Amino acid sequence: MEQLFNDGNGFLRLLPDLITHLYVPTPLADSVLSYIDNQLQVLNDEFSSTKAQLQTIKEDLTSLQSSGTIPNPQQTTRIDEDRSLTLSLVFGDIFTDAMEILSNRENIHFYTAHQPTHLDNEEFGNPQSMVVVYETKGPKLNSSLSKHARIELISKVIELEITDLLGELGLKFSSSRLLDTPVAPQITEEKKDAVEKLKANPKAQTTRFYVDLPNWYCSCDKLQSCYTKDWLSQSQPKFTYQQTTETHEVFQGINFDSLDPPAICPHILAALIIRVNPNANLCKQVSLANFSSIID
Ligand SMILES: [Zn+2]
Repeated sequence: MEQLFNDGNGFLRLLPDLITHLYVPTPLADSVLSYIDNQLQVLNDEFSSTKAQLQTIKEDLTSLQSSGTIPNPQQTTRIDEDRSLTLSLVFGDIFTDAMEILSNRENIHFYTAHQPTHLDNEEFGNPQSMVVVYETKGPKLNSSLSKHARIELISKVIELEITDLLGELGLKFSSSRLLDTPVAPQITEEKKDAVEKLKANPKAQTTRFYVDLPNWYCSCDKLQSCYTKDWLSQSQPKFTYQQTTETHEVFQGINFDSLDPPAICPHILAALIIRVNPNANLCKQVSLANFSSIID
Protein backbone atom coordinates (compact mmCIF):
# COMPACT_ATOMS: atom_id res chain seq x y z
CA MET A 1 0.00 0.00 0.00
CA GLU A 2 2.71 2.43 1.01
CA GLN A 3 4.63 1.68 -2.14
CA LEU A 4 1.58 2.47 -4.21
CA PHE A 5 1.17 5.76 -2.42
CA ASN A 6 4.73 6.75 -3.21
CA ASP A 7 3.98 6.01 -6.79
CA GLY A 8 1.85 9.14 -7.02
CA ASN A 9 -1.37 7.13 -7.28
CA GLY A 10 -0.59 5.76 -10.69
CA PHE A 11 -2.52 2.71 -9.57
CA LEU A 12 -5.76 4.69 -9.53
CA ARG A 13 -5.21 5.83 -13.09
CA LEU A 14 -5.04 2.19 -14.14
CA LEU A 15 -8.19 1.28 -12.27
CA PRO A 16 -11.01 2.54 -14.55
CA ASP A 17 -9.98 0.62 -17.66
CA LEU A 18 -9.22 -2.54 -15.68
CA ILE A 19 -12.48 -2.75 -13.74
CA THR A 20 -14.78 -1.46 -16.47
CA HIS A 21 -13.74 -4.34 -18.72
CA LEU A 22 -13.16 -6.90 -15.99
CA TYR A 23 -16.15 -9.00 -17.00
CA VAL A 24 -16.51 -10.04 -20.62
CA PRO A 25 -19.41 -11.83 -22.36
CA THR A 26 -18.96 -15.55 -22.90
CA PRO A 27 -21.25 -18.46 -23.87
CA LEU A 28 -22.64 -20.11 -20.74
CA ALA A 29 -21.57 -23.52 -22.08
CA ASP A 30 -17.94 -22.31 -22.05
CA SER A 31 -18.33 -21.25 -18.42
CA VAL A 32 -19.76 -24.66 -17.54
CA LEU A 33 -16.83 -26.37 -19.25
CA SER A 34 -14.38 -24.13 -17.35
CA TYR A 35 -16.20 -24.99 -14.14
CA ILE A 36 -15.82 -28.71 -14.88
CA ASP A 37 -12.12 -28.32 -15.75
CA ASN A 38 -11.56 -26.41 -12.53
CA GLN A 39 -13.18 -29.18 -10.47
CA LEU A 40 -11.31 -31.93 -12.30
CA GLN A 41 -8.07 -30.18 -11.44
CA VAL A 42 -8.71 -29.57 -7.75
CA LEU A 43 -10.58 -32.72 -6.72
CA ASN A 44 -8.46 -35.59 -5.46
CA ASP A 45 -9.12 -39.32 -5.86
CA GLU A 46 -11.51 -39.36 -2.92
CA PHE A 47 -13.97 -37.74 -5.31
CA SER A 48 -13.51 -40.36 -8.03
CA SER A 49 -17.22 -40.90 -8.74
CA THR A 50 -17.86 -37.14 -8.95
CA LYS A 51 -14.87 -36.77 -11.28
CA ALA A 52 -16.10 -39.58 -13.52
CA GLN A 53 -19.52 -37.94 -13.74
CA LEU A 54 -18.00 -34.54 -14.56
CA GLN A 55 -15.80 -36.09 -17.24
CA THR A 56 -18.86 -37.64 -18.93
CA ILE A 57 -20.75 -34.34 -18.76
CA LYS A 58 -17.75 -32.55 -20.24
CA GLU A 59 -17.57 -34.94 -23.19
CA ASP A 60 -21.34 -34.79 -23.84
CA LEU A 61 -21.47 -31.01 -23.52
CA THR A 62 -18.48 -30.49 -25.81
CA SER A 63 -20.15 -32.67 -28.39
CA LEU A 64 -23.50 -30.80 -28.10
CA GLN A 65 -21.67 -27.50 -28.34
CA SER A 66 -19.78 -28.42 -31.48
CA SER A 67 -22.95 -29.72 -33.13
CA GLY A 68 -24.83 -26.53 -32.14
CA THR A 69 -27.64 -28.42 -30.39
CA ILE A 70 -27.66 -26.89 -26.90
CA PRO A 71 -31.33 -25.99 -26.18
CA ASN A 72 -30.59 -22.60 -24.51
CA PRO A 73 -27.25 -21.39 -25.88
CA GLN A 74 -27.25 -18.27 -23.70
CA GLN A 75 -24.50 -15.80 -22.86
CA THR A 76 -23.07 -15.05 -19.45
CA THR A 77 -20.00 -13.16 -18.24
CA ARG A 78 -16.59 -14.34 -17.23
CA ILE A 79 -13.64 -12.59 -15.65
CA ASP A 80 -11.07 -11.33 -18.13
CA GLU A 81 -7.97 -13.20 -17.01
CA ASP A 82 -5.42 -10.62 -18.18
CA ARG A 83 -7.18 -7.79 -16.37
CA SER A 84 -7.70 -9.92 -13.29
CA LEU A 85 -3.99 -10.75 -13.25
CA THR A 86 -3.01 -7.10 -13.66
CA LEU A 87 -5.37 -6.08 -10.85
CA SER A 88 -3.83 -8.79 -8.63
CA LEU A 89 -0.33 -7.51 -9.39
CA VAL A 90 -1.18 -3.86 -8.86
CA PHE A 91 -3.58 -4.10 -5.93
CA GLY A 92 -2.49 -7.40 -4.32
CA ASP A 93 -4.60 -8.39 -1.32
CA ILE A 94 -6.89 -5.42 -1.84
CA PHE A 95 -8.12 -6.95 -5.10
CA THR A 96 -8.19 -10.52 -3.73
CA ASP A 97 -10.23 -9.38 -0.72
CA ALA A 98 -12.56 -7.34 -2.95
CA MET A 99 -13.23 -10.43 -5.09
CA GLU A 100 -13.85 -12.49 -1.96
CA ILE A 101 -16.42 -9.90 -0.85
CA LEU A 102 -17.99 -9.99 -4.30
CA SER A 103 -18.31 -13.78 -4.15
CA ASN A 104 -21.75 -13.07 -2.75
CA ARG A 105 -23.67 -10.20 -4.29
CA GLU A 106 -25.56 -9.93 -1.00
CA ASN A 107 -22.39 -8.58 0.58
CA ILE A 108 -22.88 -5.25 -1.19
CA HIS A 109 -25.90 -3.05 -0.51
CA PHE A 110 -26.36 0.17 -2.47
CA TYR A 111 -28.83 2.51 -0.87
CA THR A 112 -30.97 4.89 -2.87
CA ALA A 113 -33.42 7.53 -1.73
CA HIS A 114 -36.29 5.17 -2.50
CA GLN A 115 -35.11 2.25 -0.43
CA PRO A 116 -36.03 2.07 3.23
CA THR A 117 -32.96 2.01 5.44
CA HIS A 118 -32.08 2.77 9.04
CA LEU A 119 -29.19 4.93 7.83
CA ASP A 120 -29.62 8.63 7.35
CA ASN A 121 -28.84 8.94 3.66
CA GLU A 122 -28.67 12.73 3.77
CA GLU A 123 -25.57 12.41 5.88
CA PHE A 124 -23.69 10.73 3.06
CA GLY A 125 -24.28 13.17 0.21
CA ASN A 126 -25.45 11.49 -2.95
CA PRO A 127 -27.75 8.74 -1.65
CA GLN A 128 -27.18 6.68 -4.79
CA SER A 129 -23.66 6.05 -3.66
CA MET A 130 -24.11 4.99 -0.04
CA VAL A 131 -22.78 1.48 0.12
CA VAL A 132 -22.68 -1.04 2.94
CA VAL A 133 -20.13 -3.80 2.44
CA TYR A 134 -20.15 -7.02 4.45
CA GLU A 135 -16.87 -8.85 4.76
CA THR A 136 -16.46 -12.35 6.17
CA LYS A 137 -13.07 -13.52 7.36
CA GLY A 138 -11.78 -16.63 9.07
CA PRO A 139 -11.63 -20.34 8.31
CA LYS A 140 -13.75 -21.38 5.39
CA LEU A 141 -14.59 -24.87 6.48
CA ASN A 142 -16.64 -26.08 9.38
CA SER A 143 -13.92 -27.86 11.39
CA SER A 144 -16.40 -30.02 13.28
CA LEU A 145 -17.24 -31.92 10.10
CA SER A 146 -15.68 -35.36 9.68
CA LYS A 147 -13.63 -35.97 6.54
CA HIS A 148 -16.36 -38.28 5.28
CA ALA A 149 -19.09 -35.67 5.86
CA ARG A 150 -16.95 -33.03 4.16
CA ILE A 151 -16.43 -35.17 1.06
CA GLU A 152 -20.14 -35.98 0.93
CA LEU A 153 -21.14 -32.33 1.23
CA ILE A 154 -18.60 -31.11 -1.34
CA SER A 155 -19.75 -33.82 -3.78
CA LYS A 156 -23.35 -32.75 -3.13
CA VAL A 157 -22.53 -29.08 -3.77
CA ILE A 158 -20.77 -29.91 -7.04
CA GLU A 159 -23.65 -32.12 -8.13
CA LEU A 160 -26.20 -29.39 -7.38
CA GLU A 161 -24.05 -26.68 -8.91
CA ILE A 162 -23.57 -28.58 -12.17
CA THR A 163 -27.29 -29.49 -12.21
CA ASP A 164 -28.08 -25.81 -11.79
CA LEU A 165 -25.71 -24.75 -14.58
CA LEU A 166 -26.92 -27.45 -16.96
CA GLY A 167 -30.52 -26.48 -16.14
CA GLU A 168 -29.80 -22.98 -17.43
CA LEU A 169 -28.65 -24.54 -20.71
CA GLY A 170 -31.89 -26.58 -20.83
CA LEU A 171 -30.02 -29.78 -20.02
CA LYS A 172 -30.10 -32.45 -17.35
CA PHE A 173 -27.65 -35.23 -16.53
CA SER A 174 -29.52 -38.48 -16.02
CA SER A 175 -28.67 -42.16 -16.50
CA SER A 176 -25.10 -41.22 -17.46
CA ARG A 177 -26.06 -38.89 -20.30
CA LEU A 178 -27.19 -35.36 -20.97
CA LEU A 179 -30.88 -34.87 -21.74
CA ASP A 180 -32.59 -31.69 -22.89
CA THR A 181 -34.87 -31.53 -19.83
CA PRO A 182 -34.63 -28.42 -17.65
CA VAL A 183 -34.45 -28.94 -13.88
CA ALA A 184 -36.84 -27.70 -11.20
CA PRO A 185 -35.84 -24.37 -9.62
CA GLN A 186 -35.51 -25.55 -5.96
CA ILE A 187 -31.95 -26.71 -6.68
CA THR A 188 -30.52 -23.30 -5.76
CA GLU A 189 -31.95 -23.45 -2.23
CA GLU A 190 -30.73 -27.00 -1.74
CA LYS A 191 -27.24 -25.92 -2.87
CA LYS A 192 -27.29 -22.98 -0.49
CA ASP A 193 -28.13 -25.32 2.41
CA ALA A 194 -25.27 -27.70 1.55
CA VAL A 195 -22.79 -24.80 1.20
CA GLU A 196 -23.92 -23.34 4.52
CA LYS A 197 -23.27 -26.68 6.27
CA LEU A 198 -19.73 -26.68 4.84
CA LYS A 199 -18.89 -23.18 6.00
CA ALA A 200 -17.54 -22.29 9.42
CA ASN A 201 -20.17 -20.17 11.15
CA PRO A 202 -19.89 -17.27 8.68
CA LYS A 203 -22.23 -14.88 10.50
CA ALA A 204 -20.03 -14.67 13.59
CA GLN A 205 -17.09 -13.35 11.56
CA THR A 206 -18.92 -10.92 9.33
CA THR A 207 -18.05 -7.23 9.67
CA ARG A 208 -19.99 -4.35 8.18
CA PHE A 209 -18.27 -1.35 6.57
CA TYR A 210 -19.72 1.89 5.28
CA VAL A 211 -18.47 3.24 1.99
CA ASP A 212 -19.29 6.79 0.91
CA LEU A 213 -18.19 6.92 -2.71
CA PRO A 214 -18.70 10.68 -3.33
CA ASN A 215 -16.19 11.38 -0.56
CA TRP A 216 -13.98 8.34 -1.22
CA TYR A 217 -14.53 7.24 2.35
CA CYS A 218 -14.67 3.82 4.01
CA SER A 219 -15.10 3.14 7.71
CA CYS A 220 -12.52 0.31 7.75
CA ASP A 221 -9.21 0.55 9.62
CA LYS A 222 -7.32 -0.38 6.46
CA LEU A 223 -8.29 2.86 4.76
CA GLN A 224 -8.23 5.04 7.87
CA SER A 225 -4.73 3.89 8.80
CA CYS A 226 -3.44 5.20 5.47
CA TYR A 227 -4.18 8.75 6.53
CA THR A 228 -1.67 9.05 9.33
CA LYS A 229 -0.47 12.42 10.63
CA ASP A 230 2.82 11.96 8.82
CA TRP A 231 1.04 11.31 5.61
CA LEU A 232 -1.30 14.26 5.88
CA SER A 233 1.48 16.66 6.84
CA GLN A 234 3.45 15.85 3.70
CA SER A 235 2.85 17.67 0.50
CA GLN A 236 1.33 15.03 -1.79
CA PRO A 237 0.78 15.25 -5.51
CA LYS A 238 -2.83 15.94 -6.39
CA PHE A 239 -4.67 13.05 -7.98
CA THR A 240 -5.58 13.83 -11.55
CA TYR A 241 -6.75 11.61 -14.36
CA GLN A 242 -7.61 11.86 -18.00
CA GLN A 243 -11.33 12.11 -18.80
CA THR A 244 -12.41 9.03 -20.74
CA THR A 245 -15.64 7.04 -20.92
CA GLU A 246 -14.20 4.62 -18.36
CA THR A 247 -12.94 7.22 -15.89
CA HIS A 248 -16.28 9.03 -16.15
CA GLU A 249 -18.20 5.85 -15.32
CA VAL A 250 -15.95 4.82 -12.43
CA PHE A 251 -15.18 8.18 -10.82
CA GLN A 252 -18.48 9.92 -11.58
CA GLY A 253 -19.61 12.11 -8.67
CA ILE A 254 -16.50 11.44 -6.59
CA ASN A 255 -14.75 14.36 -4.97
CA PHE A 256 -11.07 13.59 -4.43
CA ASP A 257 -10.27 16.94 -2.83
CA SER A 258 -10.99 16.00 0.79
CA LEU A 259 -8.19 13.47 1.14
CA ASP A 260 -5.95 13.83 -1.82
CA PRO A 261 -4.33 11.67 -3.05
CA PRO A 262 -6.80 8.92 -2.27
CA ALA A 263 -5.92 5.54 -0.77
CA ILE A 264 -7.99 2.46 -1.55
CA CYS A 265 -9.32 -0.51 0.42
CA PRO A 266 -11.10 -3.75 -0.58
CA HIS A 267 -14.52 -2.26 0.26
CA ILE A 268 -14.20 0.79 -1.98
CA LEU A 269 -12.75 -1.41 -4.72
CA ALA A 270 -15.59 -3.95 -4.41
CA ALA A 271 -18.18 -1.15 -4.48
CA LEU A 272 -16.57 0.35 -7.62
CA ILE A 273 -16.37 -3.02 -9.39
CA ILE A 274 -20.04 -3.78 -8.85
CA ARG A 275 -20.99 -0.17 -9.62
CA VAL A 276 -19.58 -0.46 -13.14
CA ASN A 277 -20.48 -4.14 -13.63
CA PRO A 278 -24.03 -4.29 -12.28
CA ASN A 279 -24.96 -7.28 -14.45
CA ALA A 280 -21.82 -9.34 -13.97
CA ASN A 281 -22.32 -12.92 -12.99
CA LEU A 282 -20.35 -12.37 -9.79
CA CYS A 283 -21.59 -15.21 -7.61
CA LYS A 284 -21.08 -17.99 -10.07
CA GLN A 285 -17.71 -16.75 -11.26
CA VAL A 286 -16.23 -16.45 -7.84
CA SER A 287 -17.85 -19.40 -6.10
CA LEU A 288 -16.39 -21.62 -8.78
CA ALA A 289 -12.96 -20.05 -8.55
CA ASN A 290 -12.98 -20.45 -4.77
CA PHE A 291 -13.91 -24.06 -4.71
CA SER A 292 -10.35 -25.24 -4.29
CA SER A 293 -10.06 -23.22 -1.08
CA ILE A 294 -13.20 -24.89 0.28
CA ILE A 295 -11.59 -28.28 -0.21
CA ASP A 296 -8.28 -27.17 1.32
ZN1 LIG B 1 -12.67 -0.21 3.53
